[in-house]
Amino acid sequence: MHPILQLLDGVLDEVRPRTEGATAAYIPELAHADPDPLAFAVATARGRVLSVGDDRVEFTMQSISKPFVLALALHELGRDRVLAHVGVEPSGEPFNAISLEEGTGRPANPLVNAGAIATTSLIAGDDIDTRTARIVAMLSAFAGRSLWIDEAVYRSESATGDRNRALAHLLRSYGLLGSEVDPAVETYFRQCAVLVTVRDLAVMSATLAFGGVNPVTRERVVSEDVARDVVSIMSSCGMYDSSGEWMLRVGLPAKSGVSGGLVAVSPSQFGVAAFSPRLDAHGNSVRASAIVERLASDFGMHVFEPHEAVAEPGIEVDEGAEGTTVRLGGELGFAGAEFVVTMLRETVAARGADAAAITVDARELARLHPAALAVLRTELAALGGAVRLRD
Ligand code: GLN
Repeated sequence: MHPILQLLDGVLDEVRPRTEGATAAYIPELAHADPDPLAFAVATARGRVLSVGDDRVEFTMQSISKPFVLALALHELGRDRVLAHVGVEPSGEPFNAISLEEGTGRPANPLVNAGAIATTSLIAGDDIDTRTARIVAMLSAFAGRSLWIDEAVYRSESATGDRNRALAHLLRSYGLLGSEVDPAVETYFRQCAVLVTVRDLAVMSATLAFGGVNPVTRERVVSEDVARDVVSIMSSCGMYDSSGEWMLRVGLPAKSGVSGGLVAVSPSQFGVAAFSPRLDAHGNSVRASAIVERLASDFGMHVFEPHEAVAEPGIEVDEGAEGTTVRLGGELGFAGAEFVVTMLRETVAARGADAAAITVDARELARLHPAALAVLRTELAALGGAVRLRD
């Protein structure tokens, strides 16, 4: 067995005995679902998908569809037009609460039901089928394969979805829906009923982790800005009224769904997904949450963990006929630029005034942050003629 799979398998075995919690009771088709499947997948930068457990079992996305439909809305309308209809503050309330801002009626954020219905209503299309088709196409691009709707789950939710319909009527009364109530709600129920496996979800999450490019198909699905906006909102609102504690303990932007799925994004590292249908009191999967928490702590993946490579960039020094060349590699941010400048200052001081010039070659950098460039330009200029920057 692949060593990473072995590691994932170990995590799975650890959480398997936990059988507390229950399947979602308010959607009949979900209430009757088999509560036992357990699966876990990771999608990497090179598009490898590693998975363990019941990784071929399909389940409906439910609320996990919300961040990806938000991505579509941001892609089509831009941030300002979306924010005119929905906020970006954690609600501190359950996912189906009537969390509407006083005065404007804007839902707290796009990841609670009210906000998701508002977001879905913004997706263009003359009828429910056209809107749904555009959403399913976007979800499929994120997953890297054609996804389908589970009609039975859709009908079951539509038949019992009075609370979501009521939310939509309220939104409409505030002038916040981009459509009539019916197209908004029925399209929303359909997006929630899109079938996936944990492997699909891991790829979808990895597409957000890698700035909007699907690492399996290599297709750019959304812009880097859109992916970053979505991940930001996931980090503050993705786990409903346990979002704050989740960020503290796990430290990965995430999104859960009432069918038991969970996605988490480790920016520039990997996408992860877990599935187990029994839910806790917040509507988050007990075992899927435990899996991601364990992975984040074992792998040291908390987003606020210090990253040494950012502070100490790759440096190659060449002593050539026309002097010293310092070649920078990898990613250079503010902290890394400071490291380079300190090193150059010490070198210039040690060599004395009449030493040959040093050239700093920044052309091979994979990424040069604007702050780092500003630091290099000003600090190197202050060293006088001794150091030249090539960028
Ligand atoms: N379709 C579900 C609903 O609207 C999604 C909720 C969820 O997954 N938390 O109630």
